[in-house]
Amino acid sequence: MYDVKEIRDDFPILSREVNGKPLVYLDNAATSQKPRRVLDKLAEYYELHNANPHRGVHRLAEEATMMFEESREKVAGFIGAEDSRSVIFTRGTTESINLVAYAWGRRNLREGDEVVLTESEHHSNLVPWQLAARDTGAKLRFIPIRDDGTLDMDEAEKLIGENTKLVSCIHASNVLGTVNPVEALAEMAHANDALMMVDGAQSGPHLPVDVASLGCDFFAASGHKMLGPTGVGFLWGRPEVLDSMEPFLGGGEMIREVHLDHSTWNDLPHKFEAGTMNVAQVVGLGAAVDYLNALGMENIREHEKKLGEYAYRRLSDMEGITIYGPSEDRTGVVSFALPDVHPHDISQLLDEEGVAIRSGHHCCQPLMRRLGVAATARASFYLYNTEEEVDLLMDAIQKAREFFGAFAS
Ligand code: PMP
Repeated sequence: MYDVKEIRDDFPILSREVNGKPLVYLDNAATSQKPRRVLDKLAEYYELHNANPHRGVHRLAEEATMMFEESREKVAGFIGAEDSRSVIFTRGTTESINLVAYAWGRRNLREGDEVVLTESEHHSNLVPWQLAARDTGAKLRFIPIRDDGTLDMDEAEKLIGENTKLVSCIHASNVLGTVNPVEALAEMAHANDALMMVDGAQSGPHLPVDVASLGCDFFAASGHKMLGPTGVGFLWGRPEVLDSMEPFLGGGEMIREVHLDHSTWNDLPHKFEAGTMNVAQVVGLGAAVDYLNALGMENIREHEKKLGEYAYRRLSDMEGITIYGPSEDRTGVVSFALPDVHPHDISQLLDEEGVAIRSGHHCCQPLMRRLGVAATARASFYLYNTEEEVDLLMDAIQKAREFFGAFAS
């Protein structure tokens, strides 16, 4: 049974206070909190096993290697990847997308080619492609969103064509809570011999993900948003695509043979893991995956869906409020704006009540322009949040409005 009270006990930070009030942490789309199990794993790694993996034959190096590679197996299992060699550890989603934009994009894009993105991309799935387009002469095209925040799939059908070389798209939006039909986009991409990349930063932690049924060629996610440490994330790629690619970063471990004037490359996944990796963080991510698996991604999804819907319903009752994104089939991300309080003021006043939400452009400036705003306030839920916390959020918003005299009439 999904017992949120029990789950909360696993997260030490959730029992702290902010401004004399219990912390209500609703900034999970930015980063998640960490369960004791992950924190203990980091300590255990450093206290008992720390060494440089893959390089030594001494006992500690073997243990470090084993723990590092076990994490790879766990991540592979978590996203339904058949071959764990197709999981590359990176610093996170941003680095994973840059890896593809450099190692695949620079060698495969040329003038006349098109990369198709959407209007709702996070800057980390936009700027790397702007740089790749600038260097190769390829063009970027954008699938528009409809007013409810869902993708205009009729336009997608028109945009994805014979010039398309890659379609890259967020799986779930960090602003709108939309879940995009990436399976359909992958089909359109493949029908035109293009590749499909999925930015899974907001889906990996929240939805059951199976890369095979998504039908994508690349999937990127960040460990710190899924209970893991900062500094680690991953890129999954279809093995034959990864095999066909040149390395991203050069250095130790990614080589087979090095001569003064040339080198040859190691096998997957090491070809893409140059230098000493964030070993402890990779091991910590493995513990995070164990924790998520023990709860079950279906159960987590169900819990967050209910919370997101409850928050949406309660917010909808507020006079004058604008809620962005679809009213159904959403994740636990809810962005909103009030006519009488600036988003930054909302989050500042909420902080005084111990409620942590985020205000700003959420690294989605083009999307903000599309919505016609400079910023939104955003509450984002995770597996440990409760309905009582939604109520506390509402009370705090109400208080903020009263503070700004919204009801003085
Ligand atoms: N894509 C999306 C949709 C995100 O929400 C984020 C993080 N806000 C990123 C990419 C970037 O993730 P990271 O900073 O962990 O690389």
